[in-house]
Amino acid sequence: PLVLGIETSCDETGVGVVRGRQLLANVIASSMDEHARFGGVVPEVAARAHLEALTPTLTAALAEADVALDDLDAIAVTSGPGLSGALMVGIGAAKALALATGKPLYAVNHLVGHVGADVLRSDGTEIELPTIALLVSGGHTSLLLVRDLLNDVELLGETIDDAAGEAFDKVARLLGLGYPGGPRIDEAAASGDPDAIRFPRGLTQPKDRERHRYDFSFSGLKTAVARFVEQRRDAGLEVPVADVAAGFRESVADVLTAKAVDACLEHRIPRLLLGGGVAANARIRDLAAERTTAAGIELRVPPLPLCTDNGAMIAAIGAALVAAGRAPSAGGFGADSTLPVTTVQA
Ligand code: ATP
Ligand code: MG
Ligand code: FE
Repeated sequence: PLVLGIETSCDETGVGVVRGRQLLANVIASSMDEHARFGGVVPEVAARAHLEALTPTLTAALAEADVALDDLDAIAVTSGPGLSGALMVGIGAAKALALATGKPLYAVNHLVGHVGADVLRSDGTEIELPTIALLVSGGHTSLLLVRDLLNDVELLGETIDDAAGEAFDKVARLLGLGYPGGPRIDEAAASGDPDAIRFPRGLTQPKDRERHRYDFSFSGLKTAVARFVEQRRDAGLEVPVADVAAGFRESVADVLTAKAVDACLEHRIPRLLLGGGVAANARIRDLAAERTTAAGIELRVPPLPLCTDNGAMIAAIGAALVAAGRAPSAGGFGADSTLPVTTVQA
């Protein structure tokens, strides 16, 4: 099926077009720069930016895919989780399009979109199920057991405080590296020594093995970095930014990849899928590759433009729902900022 996908859950206005598992267009407009001076996404600013970017992004995506609205079999839109005001812009646009064209409309879970993005890879290989999936983004850090993308996604663990991306953003601000933090820390860490400063690894103590085996915590790490920086400044010493960035990044990469590999081994699933914007991190990718290879696990990481927020992944889930014969979403759906990953379609 030919499906258009609209994504506006955070600061990226994304419109994608897919034909089944084939990617036809993936156009993204980001309001990231407008948030930079605040050091984080400002919901009101994001919603307004979506409103301005949506029509041009939609037009560009249809042109890139070389299709007309009339050709579509369905429209899919992110209905959650995310920022309510931001989500509502995409939902409003999708409902208007569906009404005007008479096309069926599917309300899709953003997180399932991140996991499902892998099906759009251009190398022609298909994801094998079941798989363990590590979803690491600005708002989420979840370890999932995916038996069937549309019917059976089990949440094994998640962050109990900050998301991994959020930790990158906060630590970057602390180090004066700017926003968004992930790429800035990656850059700074490249010339640092990851072993110079040993930062804590959240929820990896023996006592955490029972209740928090697959959960994550990054707020203690963030506090440890803040304390280190503060002590250096108080002592009139220079802050070794590259080493701090490298040590911080190492802690995050270590915990994420160790727990993901543990989950693969415990569930005897020799496959690990990475998704979400933080999967762009160079050290997380390298360490994941190293550890999965050592454990005989196949690692799949979608290309970057499919890792960060985009409309194509939403279109892909929409196409899968259509192919599975699912009924369109009832017209009364709204934005659900806390939609759980286990609910694929609202
Ligand atoms: P969610 O999907 O949970 O709603 P989101 O959509 O804001 O959150 P994404 O767009 O998937 O999240 O990812 C954005 C996050 O990824 C930001 O926190 C950003 O700092 C982080 N990020 C981007 N590049 C990197 C990188 N190279 N290393 C680490 N983090 C990165
Ligand atoms: Mg984003
Ligand atoms: Fe996202």
